[in-house]
Parts: sequence; C-alpha cells; structure tokens
Amino acid sequence: MAMNFGLMYLPLFPTLGIDRHDPLILFGDIAMETGIRNASPCTARDCKWPKSRNGVVPVYISSSYTLEERDIIIKGLISFHLSTCIQFVWWKQDQDYLYFHPGNGCWSYLGRRGGQQVISLQQCGCVHHVTVQHEVLHALGFHHEQNLSDRDNVTIVENNNLMTPYDYTSVMHYGKYAFSKDYGKLPTIIPKPDSNVQIGGARQMSRLDIVRFNRLYYCSFI
Ligand SMILES: [Zn+2]
Repeated sequence: MAMNFGLMYLPLFPTLGIDRHDPLILFGDIAMETGIRNASPCTARDCKWPKSRNGVVPVYISSSYTLEERDIIIKGLISFHLSTCIQFVWWKQDQDYLYFHPGNGCWSYLGRRGGQQVISLQQCGCVHHVTVQHEVLHALGFHHEQNLSDRDNVTIVENNNLMTPYDYTSVMHYGKYAFSKDYGKLPTIIPKPDSNVQIGGARQMSRLDIVRFNRLYYCSFI
C-alpha cells in the first residue's frame, strides 16, 4: 500500500466520466446524476438505507473481478459486520442494492439512490481494503471528513453533526496533496494548528468512523 493514500484512489481532478454512461464525479469520487432533477436528491428524502432489526444492504459483485479482488471487496464488507450493525447480504432480486463494478476510477453515490446503485472500483488502483470502506461509507450516507460546507449543497450527513471530534485519521479524510497540481510540493489541505500532522493516511476505518456510523444507523451495541 502506497503512503500517498490521497492519490491512491482518487483522480487528480474532478472528472467527467469517460464513458457517456458514467455519472458526473464531484469532490473527487462522489457520483452525481447529470440533470437538475437529480442534482440533489438527498436533500429531499432520507438517504440512509432502511433499517429493520439491523440495517440490511443487498450487494452484488461484478463477475469481472478476479477471485482475489472479490475477496478484498468481501473482506471490506465484513469489516462493517464486525464493527457496526449493518448487514450486507447477497442480492436476491431486491429493488435497491449496491453493485460493485470495475468502472472508470473509484467512485460512489452519496447515500441510498434506489435501484441498482453502482460503486465503481477500477481493477487497477481501486480494489483496496481502505477504498472499499471509503466508497461503501459514501453509499451509506457519509461525506468526506474535511469541511466542504462552503461548496457543498449535496451533503446528507455532515459527519460532525454526529457529535464527534474532527478526525484526521478518518478513512473519509483526503490526503494533504489530494488534487494538487504539484504532488508532494503544493498541499491542498493544511491541518491547523499543526500543519505537520499526518492526514489522509488511513488504512481502515478509524474508531471515530465507526462511532459515527453506529450513531447514524442507531446501532445499539456500541
Ligand atoms: Zn470519497
């Protein structure tokens, strides 16, 4: 695993998908449907996945992945079973489900969209434990950790509304040089008050990521 987590799974700049069927990508890796009607669906309805006794999220993993890649994705999903009350189950004709697909880059929609919901994990560069957790957290309603409030009208969960401290170690935190034109020299995110603090180096969900998740989904056991 390279140290430069921020660029490990993110394109250098917000991009328009290469394929005409690809969604618009904002904030590095958050997919948006093009068209005003769908521009901000999460402001109009609850984008959490529904809970019964426990949250249940059907998933389907594209057969294009190798067994090794499939295993990494499954282990990423199981990590949620071990630390939260969400449960991923194999898709069985369910209406709403997550579809892991090797598209262009690593990206995910924000919150439950309804129907087949793609999480793109490109085979070259995206199939890593930390990236699986990151993109799944987007799909389950979490935005990036850093404050995007001044340019963010699509957030459905302001992570810090969940009453946890700002978390530099969050798996949802960009690296210091994310989107930088000169990687390693021109930081785009400078932590305060200590500009040398390590950010964006997460290899898995932090303790606070898990706390937030369990608060959002009302997991009672943690
Ligand atoms: Zn992201």
